[in-house]
This record gives sequence, C-alpha cells and structure tokens, in this order.
Amino acid sequence: MKKLRLLLGDQLNSQHSWFENVDKNTIYLMAEMQQETDYVKHHIQKVVAFFLSMRNFADDLKSKGHEVIYFKISAENNAQDLEKIITKCIEEYQISHFEYQLPDEYRLDKQLKNICSTLKTESKAYDTEHFYTSRTELTEFFEGKKLLLMENFYRMMRKKHHVLMQGSQPEGNQWNFDKDNRLKYKGQVPIPNEITFNQNIEGVLNEIEKANITTFGKIDVKKFNWPTSREDCLKQLDYFCENLLTHFGDYEDAMHTDQKFLFHSRLSFAMNSKMLSPKEVVETVVAFYHENEDDITISQVEGFVRQILGWREYVRGIYWKEMPNYAQMNALENHNKLPAFYWTGKTKMTCMQKAISQSLEEAYAHHIQRLMIIGNFSLLTQIHPDEVDAWYLGVYIDAIEWVELPNTRGMSQYADGGILATKPYVSSGSYINKMSNYCANCHYNVKDKFGEKACPFNTLYWNFLDEKKQYFANNQRMGMMLNMLKKMNPEELAKIKEKANHIIENIEQY
Ligand code: FAD
Ligand code: SF4
Repeated sequence: MKKLRLLLGDQLNSQHSWFENVDKNTIYLMAEMQQETDYVKHHIQKVVAFFLSMRNFADDLKSKGHEVIYFKISAENNAQDLEKIITKCIEEYQISHFEYQLPDEYRLDKQLKNICSTLKTESKAYDTEHFYTSRTELTEFFEGKKLLLMENFYRMMRKKHHVLMQGSQPEGNQWNFDKDNRLKYKGQVPIPNEITFNQNIEGVLNEIEKANITTFGKIDVKKFNWPTSREDCLKQLDYFCENLLTHFGDYEDAMHTDQKFLFHSRLSFAMNSKMLSPKEVVETVVAFYHENEDDITISQVEGFVRQILGWREYVRGIYWKEMPNYAQMNALENHNKLPAFYWTGKTKMTCMQKAISQSLEEAYAHHIQRLMIIGNFSLLTQIHPDEVDAWYLGVYIDAIEWVELPNTRGMSQYADGGILATKPYVSSGSYINKMSNYCANCHYNVKDKFGEKACPFNTLYWNFLDEKKQYFANNQRMGMMLNMLKKMNPEELAKIKEKANHIIENIEQY
C-alpha cells in the first residue's frame, strides 16, 4: 500500500502524529503553487515567509528519513494547481491511498472534498492536531444562545483546559484584567532590541520573481526577520517570555510613532503556519509567569492568554459556524472604494500614515493599529468590506482567511451585523490621542470637528453615527453616543456632514 499525504503551506506541525513513524511507503507532498499566491495579491514578505518555512519543514522531514516530494514555485514540472499536482503524483508514484489534514480555509476544504470525490484511490482526512477546539466546538457551546459572547467562551476554555485557574476560581480572583491593560506608552520603560534570525532569503526571492508572482510591499534581504523554522519560532517564544511579557498587558493597546512592535509577541505567523501550537505557547508563557511571579503581574499574562485561548479559538469557531455566508456579509451596506493611499501610506493623517507604512514595510501592524486606526478609518469612510478584506488578507504575514475574515469583516467592519462584536469599533480622534502620540505629530487638529484642519476621524465619526443611526437605534451599547448625536446643534451637524462628504469624495487629498 502506497500513501500520499498532502501538507499545505500552513500545516507545518512537526509534532503531528503523522510523523511519529518513518515509513518508506508514505510520501509527503508539499507544493508552492500559484493557486495559493494568486487568490489575492500578497505582501512579498508573506510569500517568502511561507515558502521558506515550507522548505525548512520539508528539509527537516527528509533529515528524519521521511519521503518528501516538493514542488518549488519556479520548477518547470510544477502544475501550480492543487488538483493537477495531486492527480499527477498519484499516477506517477502508483498511490493507493490519499490523505490530507483538514484545511482551515473554507475554500481549500471545498476544493479538497471535490478532488477526493473524483479520485479513484481511497482518501482520508485527519485533524491538524493544532487548535484547542474542533471546528464545531464553539457552535455547540453557543447552541440556543442569541449572543455569542467571547467572554463566556473564554471562561469555559479557561476552566476546561485548566489555564490560570486555582481550583474552580481564576488566578488573581478575576477572569479579565482588560481594564488594567490600557496604558499609553511614553517611553516609561525601554523596549528591548528585537530578536534576530540568521537566514538567507535570496534564493526564494529570486524564484518568486522568476515565476512572475505579483506581490506588493517591501522586503530587505538583510533585514527579513520572521522565524521560518520551528527552532527559530521556539527562540521567538522564549524571547517574548524573557523580554516582553513583563509589559505585554500594560501596553497592549498603546501606539507610538517610533515603536512598531512595542511589547507584542509577533508569534502569529509561527502559530498560523502551525510551527508552534497555541497550547505550547500558552503553557510556556504561564509556566514562565509562575517561575517569575515577583517580576510579572497576572494582568500581563492573563491579557496574553486571553488572545490565544480566547480570541484565536473564538474567531476560528465563528468562521466555521458562519461560513460560507460570512464572506459575503455587508450589513451596513458600505460601498466606497479603498483609497489608493492604502498601497502607499501617503496621507497627512499621521496615525494612518504610520500604521499603513508599517504594514507595507513589515507585513505587520499590531492589533490596535489594525482595529482602531486602519479598520476604524475604513468603517468610518464606509469602504466596501470586500475591498477591506482583500487588503487585510494580502498585507499581513499572519493573514489566513479563517482568522482574517472574522477579525476584519466581523470585529472591525461590523459587516456581520453584530455576530462577533456587540457594537462597531469606531472612534473619533480622542481615543487615538489617548492611546498614542500620533496626534501630537499630525497635520490635523485632534480637537477640531469641522475646521480647515479638523481631524478627519472626528468629522467622519459623527457623520457615521448620523448615517447609521437607524441601524443602531435598538443597540443599547450605542445609546449614549446616539443620544449625544440627537442633542447636537443641527447647524454644527450640518457642517460636520458637509465636511465628511468632502473627505469621502476627496479622500486622497487627506
Ligand atoms: P500579540 O499581540 O502578541 O498577541 C498574541 C497572539 O494572540 C497573536 O499572535 C494571535 O495569535 C492571538 N490573537 C490576538 N488577537 C487575536 C484576534 N483578534 N484573533 C485571533 N488571534 C488573536 N490575526 C491573525 O493571526 N491573522 C490575521 O489575518 C488577523 N487579521 C486581523 C484583522 C483585524 C482587522 C484585526 C483587528 C485583527 C486581526 N488579527 C489577525 C488579530 C491580531 O491583530 C493579530 O493576531 C496580532 O496583531 C498578531 O501580532 P502578535 O503575534 O504580535 O500578537
Ligand atoms: Fe489621526 Fe486625527 Fe490624531 Fe491626526 S489628529 S493622528 S488624523 S487621530
């Protein structure tokens, strides 16, 4: 019996039970494909990071004695399409059994089911052995419930997996320390130097160019610094524990003109490619905390655990509960086009300029930049969620649809009508001013709503509330803001709306 086992680019889990034994009759198939580079335009660093990680993974498998067929992107015999590659390998290697790990994207799940239905060989799907939860666990947990509150799901996960628990009670006698995690960064504590990895990306980069893959964004061969092997991912995890965890929670929501990463872990690529499992990340971080309780407070570690045990598993559950309809939702009926400056960073708004330029330079922005700067602006200017989604899916190193889509279309654009968030994440400039030093360095005046140099976020915020007030009329969490809108002087509101229309119609000037 000869087996062909497919490994997709985000299935680099070396701890998977598939690899426990070496079997000469089992061939692992890995392929860099245009099918995967072209479904949306990707940041060059994202393509390089995935291909390099796949190559390192294949080399590791081979060094352990496993049989591997690997198609590089520029190889002449690469059919660039999953179905063609699988069929060709089955014929060429006289395969009797085809096996794959369940993909995390709906698109690939459907494609693999279709491929298997036409194969003459037997086929079988396996779990990826990566997540804490199955695809359906969230759906089962919320069965019969109207509100899918993340906090409820998170508490269940803490109890079920016994993370940061003392018996049945949460460690620190509180489930959530979110309120403590809102400091502005003013250089109070130094930010440690970045960890650096020694890797050569020139070969992969040349092949991507040779294969004419369309990408965007910047890459510097000397500065490329994403971990692309399990060994480097583990180093990044240790680095986070030793250097960044002490202030992770404190500055989780902070933004700063000179600090791109602050105390964020940058572990999302390592986890989303499955080189690291969420369980080992959480367990390592919690163990480190327990060994260093004199230096690290519970609010730092709880903040971090909530992102992974809570949010990451939660958005995956929402994705599988709501797909495929979720990808088409546009509850607020937004239809504007994505501004051209999303591809250049050329805008006078310092917050947008910093967050976009950083995304184009690093293929990374941290959560609050994604949510409260770029996402906030996209929603306030009422951009079509398809365009917002395509940008987010392409630009970030960690963007894979199962996690990108609920975050972008749901949490950030409210296009799902509130399945994921109980109110839209919109704000005027004052929130941005509170959490960053952006406004102090901006062309616009954060205190002004409709003057010549009024902060566009202020104008657009009140205009958004006014345009969507019917939609949110019964949303209690929006009550206070809608009441303020009602009390606004009509002349002032008219001026705001006029200015907001000018911004939306002449967006590239701003
Ligand atoms: P840290 O701040 O160090 O957090 C630790 C880990 O928690 C992250 O690595 C990540 O795995 C997890 N995490 C934190 N927040 C979330 C969340 N909301 N959903 C899922 N996991 C979370 N994350 C992605 O992995 N891929 C995406 O495509 C993606 N798109 C996003 C789009 C928008 C509009 C928003 C608001 C958020 C998005 N996120 C996405 C979530 C989050 O912004 C990133 O996971 C995080 O910025 C990655 O950087 P980090 O590893 O330094 O995170
Ligand atoms: Fe952004 Fe407005 Fe502040 Fe400028 S003033 S940085 S546009 S929030």
